[in-house]
Amino acid sequence: MPTSGLKLNIDNMSIRLRDRTFCPVCDKLVRLVTYADAAAFFKTNEKDIEKLGQEGELHRLHNRRAKLMICTDSLFSSFDKRQTRMLPNLPPADKG
Ligand SMILES: [Zn+2]
Repeated sequence: MPTSGLKLNIDNMSIRLRDRTFCPVCDKLVRLVTYADAAAFFKTNEKDIEKLGQEGELHRLHNRRAKLMICTDSLFSSFDKRQTRMLPNLPPADKG
């Protein structure tokens, strides 16, 4: 059984979580995903991921091969925020 990498299935989409590395922003060990996987997760393209990285929304980290990857913690929290943001600005529904 392969020990490196962990597959995560979200919404019929599988994201391969890569090496663990220390994220200075999260201040802990996090798993990494590739830009391509991050883009697939957001249903967007890698350019958008790069933009989010530049804005600090996503944490960009180098893996052992010095390849730029995305911190999964930032990915998931950003995803939560995005889902909230995607909701139209409607008056609050009845909170019954
Ligand atoms: Zn992070």
